[in-house]
Amino acid sequence: MKVLITAGPTRERIDPVRYLTNDSSGKQGYAIAKSCVEKGWDVKLISGPVSIDIPNSVEFISVESAQQMYDACMNNIDVDIAICVAAVCDWRPKEVFNHKIKKTKEVEELQVSFIKNPDILHDISNHSNRPKLVVGFAAETENVIDNAKNKLINKGCDLIIANQVGISSSGFTSDNNKIHIVHKSGIESFPLMSKDSVANKVLSKVISIYS
Ligand code: C5P
Repeated sequence: MKVLITAGPTRERIDPVRYLTNDSSGKQGYAIAKSCVEKGWDVKLISGPVSIDIPNSVEFISVESAQQMYDACMNNIDVDIAICVAAVCDWRPKEVFNHKIKKTKEVEELQVSFIKNPDILHDISNHSNRPKLVVGFAAETENVIDNAKNKLINKGCDLIIANQVGISSSGFTSDNNKIHIVHKSGIESFPLMSKDSVANKVLSKVISIYS
């Protein structure tokens, strides 16, 4: 089985020393990569900048921006399963300064315009060479299940793993996660558990649908 996994945040440059990013630690995506390796699968892990160890035996592709992650995914789309765990920045600065933006006495307000990044999960799900199974994550601070149901339809993927972020016990930087697996025929909700346990639950579901 060949699997592509995206993980971690993306980093969108404003100038050579500043960027926009988010709180993703990469822990959940890396836990899923590790579980896939344990199953003997062939894993390509495409990761934004994180400070955790690369799991053994993965093909590791390091990226910084959403556009780089997008290009790496499109170049590696020939897989059976894609699991998009990365917290991709939806926006990037329209202009990237090639010098450090200087503070001046006269300027009290700095305007930065943002443009939309490509939606990797959407484009993998709708690709002519689509993997047989495509899984997305939905990190939400409110209306977790409703937003996940909408995402399943709008992105065109087969499963959405919805999780609550913005609370300390679950999500981005935590070692634990509380998830709901949302698919076309229903929702399965799980109690708070370790990200390793979440990885095993997600893979059990993936295997049951794939076979
Ligand atoms: O749209 P939203 O960011 O809430 O969707 C989350 C899911 O979409 C995650 O699986 C994430 O990896 C994926 N995504 C993506 N490319 C984007 C935005 C999100 O692949 N530009």
